[in-house]
Amino acid sequence: TRVPPAQNEPILSYAPGAPERAVLQSTLQRMASERLDIPLIIGGKEVRTGKTDEVRMPHKHSHVLATLHEANAGHVEQAIQNALSVKDAWSQMPFQERAAIFLRAAELLATRYRPLLNASTMLGQSKTAHQAEIDAACEAIDFLRFNVAFAEQLLSQQPLSAPQTWNLTDYRPLDGFVFAVAPFNFTSIALNLCTAPALMGNVVLFKPASTAAYSAWFVMELLREAGLPDGVINFLPGDGPTIGNVALTSPHLGGIHFTGSTPTFQGMWRTVGENIQRYKQYPRLVGETGGKDFIFAHASAADDVDALATAIVRGGYEYQGQKCSAASRVYIPESIWPKLKPRLQEFISELRMGDVTDFRNFMGAVIDEKSFKKVSSYIELAKAGGAEASIVAGGDADRSEGWFVKPTLVQLTNPRHRIMQEEIFAPLVGVHVYPDARFEETLRECDQAATYALTGAVFARDRKAIATASRELRHAAGNFYINDKPTGAVVGQQPFGGSRASGTNDKAGSMLNLVRWTSPRTIKETF
Ligand code: GLU
Repeated sequence: TRVPPAQNEPILSYAPGAPERAVLQSTLQRMASERLDIPLIIGGKEVRTGKTDEVRMPHKHSHVLATLHEANAGHVEQAIQNALSVKDAWSQMPFQERAAIFLRAAELLATRYRPLLNASTMLGQSKTAHQAEIDAACEAIDFLRFNVAFAEQLLSQQPLSAPQTWNLTDYRPLDGFVFAVAPFNFTSIALNLCTAPALMGNVVLFKPASTAAYSAWFVMELLREAGLPDGVINFLPGDGPTIGNVALTSPHLGGIHFTGSTPTFQGMWRTVGENIQRYKQYPRLVGETGGKDFIFAHASAADDVDALATAIVRGGYEYQGQKCSAASRVYIPESIWPKLKPRLQEFISELRMGDVTDFRNFMGAVIDEKSFKKVSSYIELAKAGGAEASIVAGGDADRSEGWFVKPTLVQLTNPRHRIMQEEIFAPLVGVHVYPDARFEETLRECDQAATYALTGAVFARDRKAIATASRELRHAAGNFYINDKPTGAVVGQQPFGGSRASGTNDKAGSMLNLVRWTSPRTIKETF
């Protein structure tokens, strides 16, 4: 097979007057005026369970977007049976036929589904048009196209054959089903979590985040329209523990494809460990979890303080800091701080926050009340911090209409302050100013301050400083950026994932990830 070479989907601008802007605006209007009913999908059939929850807009929480049906234990059992019943047909389908379904999905998403996926991500997850476009459109399309290309490369990896023999690797799917558990923050990640295992011939139980079930529903519609056979991906919104208890203790659990919080993943791992004798195989555990991502500046970054300030603002506050990759702790040398601080204050004061359907806004609301309360408690902690903590910018939050938190920057004298160590997942960035002469010690401090190791960035012009930082921080980030912000990995360009408490580092959107959804069989035939 030769599959079409993958290329990154170009980002549309949605600038005033651009044709895509008008289409997106009318889609937003129509969708906001309707109330959607979101059922489960089991074996291709929509199931309305009657036990429902409401999906609301984070930036206008009085507005209900959808009624969400929730799965109970019986539905999960049913989904497992349905998935297993189509497994042979799906896994025995020639690779090019499976691949064609996902390439068709990419094409539909690049055209007709683009406004639907973008609008649902904006309304349901409070992303701006640009943040939705780089996620629900471009990254999702890229995952679909690049995974097909990477899968083909993987399948072509074959062993040597000696005379009179033929050796082959048969890339079987896992025995059983894959449990895909998605976060709220990226529509494309939800799509990748279920489509990557499916591409390799697996059947999937897909549990979306309740706070992102609105866009996840349109992902399912897209895949169905692209021709995905019934039962290959089963859609199971609802309560995590209820669904997890059944899926994780099934003897047919083949693997977990997870993105979300560290404690949730650790809990799943524990459940698998406790039940290890039940399974037909050792389940594959693939998880991308939390982050406490850094930006570390060296004194030689002084010649471009604006680039550094931009990286902190974009890395820290785009999508309200709710990316696993978001910059949340920053280390600045004393020599730069007097120049950088007023620039940051100026930039931050210019950021517009509000309803994301107003395209002038740079930020929307945080996802829900729980998140709002969590970040508010950290802001209180900063305010009560005395000499240890001082608010450089922001520090306000307003819950009256939506879950709005001002982009907040806190200076901390203690590099082990909780704000420098704990994942907050909100627009709150801690900054520690260090003496220039203590560059190396502070690098080591940065390496050790957090248990996470997802992304990080170093800003420097001095080559020696770059090399030192790269060496000292070698294990502190799975994605390491030199002179750029730590967010915005592009599929096919910067394979994404971290280690330590940040996950199993099976890089999303790469062959390393796809190989995890296979259980290779070595075949030797002697002639
Ligand atoms: N891949 C995204 C980025 O590089 C982050 C993904 C996440 O938040 O899990 O910004």
